[in-house]
Formats: sequence, C-alpha cells, structure tokens
Amino acid sequence: MFPLRRIAAALFVTLAIAPVAQAWGPLGHSVVAELAQRHLSPAAKAEVEHLLALDHTQSLADIASWPDEIRNDPKQQDLWKQTRAKHYIDFDGDCTYTPPRDCKDGQCVVEGIEHYTEILSDRSQPDEARLQALKFVVHFIGDIHQPLHANYQQDAGGNKYQVQFQGQGMNLHRVWDSGLLSTRNLDWKAYANMLDGEGFAPLPPAIAPLDNPPAQWAEESCQITRNIYPANHKIDQAYIDAELPVADSRLREAGRRLAEVLNIALQNG
Ligand SMILES: [Zn+2]
Repeated sequence: MFPLRRIAAALFVTLAIAPVAQAWGPLGHSVVAELAQRHLSPAAKAEVEHLLALDHTQSLADIASWPDEIRNDPKQQDLWKQTRAKHYIDFDGDCTYTPPRDCKDGQCVVEGIEHYTEILSDRSQPDEARLQALKFVVHFIGDIHQPLHANYQQDAGGNKYQVQFQGQGMNLHRVWDSGLLSTRNLDWKAYANMLDGEGFAPLPPAIAPLDNPPAQWAEESCQITRNIYPANHKIDQAYIDAELPVADSRLREAGRRLAEVLNIALQNG
C-alpha cells in the first residue's frame, strides 16, 4: 500500500474523529522538528537517531532548515533546482486541492511530502538517501503549515505584498516566516517548551473526501490566508495579538503531524 495512504488510514483510525518562497525561518522549522522529536515512538526515535548519526547530530531541529540552506551551496544546485518548487503550493483559483491544476508534474509541497515519506519508509534504500528524505519530510511538513506556503492569491505566497513591520518595509511572507515568531524573543528550545507545555495540539477535523493528509494541511493553510492580509499594509500590535496565536497553532499542528508521520513511516524496523 502506498505509504501515505497507510498514514491516512492510520490517522483516521487513531484519531477517529478526525479527523514561494522560503519557509518558516530557522526558528519555526526548529520548533516544529523539536515538538515532533519529543513525541516519537521508541521505534521511530531509534531510527531517527540512527539516521541523524550519519550527520553527527541527535536533533531534528539541527537538520530542519537544510532544504532551504542548499540554495546557497554550490555543490547542491541540482538538488535545489529539483526541489525548490516542492516547498510550497500555489492554488490556482480556490483553496480546493485539484491536481494536476495545483501540482503540475508533482511540483508542489503536497507531492513533495508524499515522495520523501515514501523513500524514508523504504528500508531497502541506502541510509544516506533516507537521511536526506528525513530532512525533506521534516522541512516540508513545517512549510505546508506556514499559511503563505499554500495560498491562492498568485502573489508568490505574499512575497509581493509589502507591509510595514516594526518601522521597516518587509513583505508579508517574511512576516509569517520569521517576523511574527521573533516578537516572542525566544530561542527555538524555549519556544518549543512553551508550545509543548500547552499539550498535544488539537487538530482540525479531517476533510473526509480528501483522504489525503498533506492536501488537507495545504487547504487549511490556504483558508487561513484569506484573513491574514492587513488591509492597511501595517503589522501593528493588534495584528500581532490576533495572528501570533494562529502561527503558534500551526507550529503545534505541524509538530504533532510530523511526529505521527514519522511514527508510522519508521515503525518496526
Ligand atoms: Zn522551505
């Protein structure tokens, strides 16, 4: 069975109710990765640590931004070009996932997550390939929960929408990648501690006809983008008070879902 179908089925069973750009900056990606790592099953934890050891680290937070970092690595330009469109999805017209309209040639974050989850869960693949796949899965599940990585406004995920933030001009995408989160003045570990202290994230109900978890996560992000464009192009305190809790919820949901994907992909060695 195709791994994500298996994941979809497992999520429906266990939850019953069911249920362009860069990305979250390093802070957001590390928070998501850390939240997930704290909720791995023993089998998944052991396998994650086995793969991370190839990179001489034990922390998913350390590798969570690597798919963005290869953009500036001359040796990784081929990989960057193959993967750059998999960090986001541009819905063409509305927030209903409609392939191939919204994901031509598999070039979107929904298919990116599926592709790399499949490699990660395939124990016949070399460890190096599975470690690389792990990095992409960790990163893309973060990205897909950043609302502006999945919007329908045809403005490069808010990169073309200029705002004023803390006395500076900046685009809305960057506000959501890092500006909003930075207003808490916490490092990633302290941020993860704060969010983890709120318990396991409640998840939005499953969109049953989709039966495709990453597509649902993208649709949720797209729906959120309907309400996050400040009419006066100003990110003021009222905007931060309203939207920072939304960003925090997306980090918590991403962390929980990443843990669930890894627990299923890496069960029973
Ligand atoms: Zn990214």
